[in-house]
Amino acid sequence: MLDLTFDTPTPKVIAGAKHDWELVIGLEVHAQVATNAKLFSGASTLFGAEPNSNVAFVDAGMPGMLPVINEECVAQAVRTGLGLKAEINLFSAFDRKNYFYPDLPQGYQISQLYHPIVGEGEVLVELGDNKARVVRIERIHLEQDAGKSVHDMDPNMSFVDLNRTGVALMEIVSRPDIRGPEEAAAYVSKLRQIMRYLGTCDGNMQNGNLRADVNVSICRPGQYEKYQETQDFSHLGTRCEIKNMNSMRFIQQAIDVEARRQIALIEDGKEVVQETRLYDPDKNETRSMRSKEEAHDYRYFPDPDLLPLEIEQAWVDDIASALPELPDAKKTRFMADFGLSDYDASVLTADVANAAYFEQVADGRDGKMSANWVINELFGRLKKDDDKDITESPVSAAALGTLVGLIKSGDINGKIAKEVFEIAYTTGRDPSEIVETEGMKQVTDTGAIEAAVDEIIAANPAQVEKAKANPKLAGWFVGQVMKATGGKANPAAVNQMVSAKLGL
Ligand code: ADP
Ligand code: MG
Repeated sequence: MLDLTFDTPTPKVIAGAKHDWELVIGLEVHAQVATNAKLFSGASTLFGAEPNSNVAFVDAGMPGMLPVINEECVAQAVRTGLGLKAEINLFSAFDRKNYFYPDLPQGYQISQLYHPIVGEGEVLVELGDNKARVVRIERIHLEQDAGKSVHDMDPNMSFVDLNRTGVALMEIVSRPDIRGPEEAAAYVSKLRQIMRYLGTCDGNMQNGNLRADVNVSICRPGQYEKYQETQDFSHLGTRCEIKNMNSMRFIQQAIDVEARRQIALIEDGKEVVQETRLYDPDKNETRSMRSKEEAHDYRYFPDPDLLPLEIEQAWVDDIASALPELPDAKKTRFMADFGLSDYDASVLTADVANAAYFEQVADGRDGKMSANWVINELFGRLKKDDDKDITESPVSAAALGTLVGLIKSGDINGKIAKEVFEIAYTTGRDPSEIVETEGMKQVTDTGAIEAAVDEIIAANPAQVEKAKANPKLAGWFVGQVMKATGGKANPAAVNQMVSAKLGL
């Protein structure tokens, strides 16, 4: 468990014409459940399939078709709830949220309004500089995704692709505990990280697998503290909800521009109207989409096709006992076991695949050296190579571990190691084999080093005089020796030998 103590960050303050204003933000994150089949049908959830090829009769809203709950979706929601330290509700139920939309053939979305499967939880959002915010989770409910209307394929017609219709989403609703644009992005990143560790959502924002509705309001300093004390929303300002954001950058920009719009309104003596808005990144503005009142007339009622969902504590316990190590715990362990800095541990645990790779490299080896090689050399090289992912690395964790071992044992020095790494990266060859075959072993044999130093001193009497007058110039000799030995000489040994021979 995380036993670090963090400072509370100060909320983002935006100066208005008359007053300073603080931001209050609550997020509704829609995370696509990682499963093969949809929430209530056996149709595939594969992304990028031919339009309308992953559609069962029930997804298409054919009359008389009955939904059947997919157990794995329920398990994934439970897993996510456990990962967010949330209460799991053994009793939950599905409701119909009625609305007409061309890409929603049922005429309603099946969701969980009254009895969500997951209740209150919390997420620790680290913000650097030893600052962190605990964001409370209000609930997570399971619901169906809608399809996709396609408006840009024909000048006169719109098309509908129902592949996504009925795919399971987890809607993760936070309390309004987020206090600035950066915090909002950090919160979404943290959720994404936790769900990727859990394997419950792949978090691919470009594919729309993680989207957020962002609720923004502003208040005068001191008001939020009153809300915290009483949990009475009347201390806060009226909020607007910005729909369907699927980029971290846009989330931040939208919050900033929406807050400024609200400040201008209020300072102008007008009121913020609670409504749903859209963010337009080209114009960097939010625009009204629909008023909240109309939108809320969904006439929710319990879905008569589905029995309430009752799960057993023993089943939840089974899932809990099989939960993987989560990011906070892994980070703390990396710092303790491998002696890593907070920063290095954060970088290495940001993604579960990176963490696994590092752990294999560092297994039984120098933790810090392993971290440096993974972060600086490998990540740097992957970035240059078309921004490759660690899973596509041509150098396996075992191979990089071998390389780190060779440095530590003194078989090669750091400079040669970089050459070995580059060869391994481009050819896939094993580092030990490269060092053997290419004769790259470090020369620690003092006899050989001495011979090289003598030779260079003998050939450069003028340089010797200069170096004796100014010891800083001894570095030139070290460089020459390294060059003569093809970079393979032990740098410490060369330094010593040069100093000794020059009498410095
Ligand atoms: P709805 O279902 O109408 O969207 P909810 O009560 O479920 O309403 O709240 C939706 C989101 O709005 C939650 O994430 C909540 O934290 C956030 N929220 C509520 N009040 C405010 C506020 N004054 N400012 C910012 N966010 C808010
Ligand atoms: Mg909402």
